[in-house]
Amino acid sequence: MADRFFNNLMPDLSQTVAEDGDSLMNLLAMPYSSLSHHLKRSALDLKETVVIETWGFSGQLVHDFTLYSGTLGTAFLLFRAYQVTANANDLSLCLQILKACDAASASSRDVTFICGRAGVCALGAAAAKRSGDQELLNYYLAQFHQIKLSNDIPNELLYGRVGYLWACLFLNKYVGAETLSSTTIRQVTEEIIKEGRSMAKNGSSPLMFEWYGQRYWGAAHGLAGIMHVLMDVQLKPDEAEDVKGTLKYMINNRFPSGNYPASEEDMRRDFLVHWCHGAPGIALTLVKAAQVFGEREFLEAGAAAAEVVWNRGLLKKVGICHGISGNAYVFLSLYRATGKSEYLHRAKAFASFLLDRGHKLLSKGEMHGGDSPYSLFEGVGGMAYLFLDMVDPSQARFPGYEL
Ligand SMILES: [Zn+2]
Repeated sequence: MADRFFNNLMPDLSQTVAEDGDSLMNLLAMPYSSLSHHLKRSALDLKETVVIETWGFSGQLVHDFTLYSGTLGTAFLLFRAYQVTANANDLSLCLQILKACDAASASSRDVTFICGRAGVCALGAAAAKRSGDQELLNYYLAQFHQIKLSNDIPNELLYGRVGYLWACLFLNKYVGAETLSSTTIRQVTEEIIKEGRSMAKNGSSPLMFEWYGQRYWGAAHGLAGIMHVLMDVQLKPDEAEDVKGTLKYMINNRFPSGNYPASEEDMRRDFLVHWCHGAPGIALTLVKAAQVFGEREFLEAGAAAAEVVWNRGLLKKVGICHGISGNAYVFLSLYRATGKSEYLHRAKAFASFLLDRGHKLLSKGEMHGGDSPYSLFEGVGGMAYLFLDMVDPSQARFPGYEL
């Protein structure tokens, strides 16, 4: 399925030299401080475009409030821009957009950070805290506490329990420890473990989950996303063993290529190399597991998955969910975990490819901007976010996934 991705002809670190007339090679050969300057300038230009397209042109009306494909993604990008540049205009515009997202999501029954009401309330609280507005902070926290999880919700990241848990952890990081009590977090964690064990009964993985009848493996709807968030909460020893065992089950049943199946129901087709389904999202989880459990096997599997991303992950899409921007985060996470400059080079290569050719390929239709071309998860909003994150790679985090 070579039509899904561009052949990656970019050289590895040791073979990278500047060449007259080759703008991509020149970017790659550039010292990091110069490239980082180019990326930052492009990110800030893109951010203006995203704001105009998703907020200005819509008459400041919110049709889709979500972080994934809607206006909250623009607020999240502005919040990141504020962290990088400390430009107060970004924070105040972020708060203004949040207010509209708050109104638009008031009756939503979705509870997660990426696709639900919890994202609006958690980011609202974090931004209010940064701006020093205690009253607004109290408002968003009170709204967050009103979110109720029904008994029949799934467990995955986009619509399920771990997506809500991630919002709790985001609040505890950006507003303060115990903003969401450990009792609440424990309760939700126990429900997830209980369902995972009961679904896994008689299978070879200790935990298994289902979303609309499919037992997915990837970050968006499946095991990788659920294990990723579980590793950010305090687990009991037997729960931690089950998380480890689930990840080992996945490693032992991956494709010979090093890529991963999309689901238990689809164990033969080795063709998706996305954050949502396949090696990229799973690599981020494995690198995290190496840090949490200190076992070499996880880092080796993460590195093997990153090889798949390097060879088949230069996708003909731009965003972070199933595009080049999201796949670049695999190399950033391995760079943070290992300090190896080869990984930073690979992240630079994916970002430089987008910087050099992204606009041209998008305008010629050779790359797709997704259904929501300016959104954070599918569109150029994600590219802007990646460029901002690359200004200081030690602080880069996949939005809504890496805390
Ligand atoms: Zn996707």
